[in-house]
Amino acid sequence: MSVAVRFAPSPTGLLHVGNVRLALVNWLFARKAGGNFLLRLDDTDEERSKPEYAEGIERDLTWLGLTWDRFARESDRYGRYDEVAAALKASGRLYPCYETPEELNLKRASLVSQGRPPIYDRAALRLSDADRARLESEGRTPHWRFKLEHTPVEWTDLVRGPVHFEGSALSDPVLIREDGRPLYTLTSVVDDADLAITHVIRGEDHVANTAVQIQIFQAVGGAVPVFAHLPLLTDATGQGLSKRLGSLSVASLREEEGIEPMALASLLAKLGTSDAIEPRLTLDELVAEFDIAKVSRATPKFDPEELLRLNARILHLLPFERVAGELAALGLDDADAAFWEAVRPNLSRVAEARDWWAVTHAPVAPVADDPAFLAEAAALLPEEPWDLSTWGTWTGAVKARTGRKGKDLFLPLRRALTGRDHGPELKNLLPLIGRTRAQKRLAGETA
Ligand code: GLU
Repeated sequence: MSVAVRFAPSPTGLLHVGNVRLALVNWLFARKAGGNFLLRLDDTDEERSKPEYAEGIERDLTWLGLTWDRFARESDRYGRYDEVAAALKASGRLYPCYETPEELNLKRASLVSQGRPPIYDRAALRLSDADRARLESEGRTPHWRFKLEHTPVEWTDLVRGPVHFEGSALSDPVLIREDGRPLYTLTSVVDDADLAITHVIRGEDHVANTAVQIQIFQAVGGAVPVFAHLPLLTDATGQGLSKRLGSLSVASLREEEGIEPMALASLLAKLGTSDAIEPRLTLDELVAEFDIAKVSRATPKFDPEELLRLNARILHLLPFERVAGELAALGLDDADAAFWEAVRPNLSRVAEARDWWAVTHAPVAPVADDPAFLAEAAALLPEEPWDLSTWGTWTGAVKARTGRKGKDLFLPLRRALTGRDHGPELKNLLPLIGRTRAQKRLAGETA
């Protein structure tokens, strides 16, 4: 049996780091097992689902390199859900209920005030045909609940180990709304069964759903998949990350924070696992290192500062070809490997390359506070062509002539050539600045 997993976001908002971590873990699991990865849009909530969010999900996954082998959209499958619902009604596993939301709230509040769990009391099961006819003649339309078996539900979770629920401790879930629309608890099972999903890997907020859904799998005759429930990411203070937290959306990490896809993937693949977080330049490396058994039950904390540090470490390793597109998008069309290799050790984000481009390719106001020394140095500038050895040759000559060394030698040259006290190694920058500009800057001219 070949492994099949799915990532099933609802297109009701932007993907944030927590959602995309689940996409990544599913994808790594599939690739590791030589199985396949399905992207399924859970878009039956028609009021809240939006095409732009669906597009955003595809854009975010594509940016990360999480390609999908299969694609499904729940809103294409209403006919199939109706068919399954009809069969469940016929077998008595789905039963009509007529309580209004207010009535249900009252029931729940009363149970809670008695210190009892708010489990639906199955009053609707005791209605006679005549009761139902009367309620319907009063204009009520039923919603439909799934009748759980009051037996134990057990599974061996790939993250949580053995899990046990008593059916009697769970509320019969509503699977069909009053307007006839099927709900996620049902649609997800029908899809997982029809699309032969072998492993459901999702957040631990779904553990109780799993107990219910296992019984639904059994009722619809689907093979029950293996489950893995991962602890959800929290922020540094232990608060959950809400889907609406725009700043942690993948889109804002990419577009506003300048995060590289492999920085995010390197972090999210290892967060909450027994592996150390290290920069990885390819998803293949993460596949090779992946093992769901490494996922711990402890709550993983997502720290944006850690992500930015990892981003910097990734940039310091990335070859020019991997950033050429991004540099061109910044308007640095002529940037080449020499420029990239000169500046990347000083970057946390690719966009910061613009600052160094301005130093090598645009006029700079030099800081020239020792004109006599700078003039001596300028006179010793070698003829072009310049390469990575030019800086050493030149400063060797300046040192011999002036007797200066260390900071006294290098800092005035750096300040004159770049206008700044710190930056990439001058060995790398000097050939990019070129002789004409260098000479003018050493003379105190903006060039
Ligand atoms: N659409 C559901 C969610 O986003 C999917 C959960 C699942 O993986 O079954 O929470």
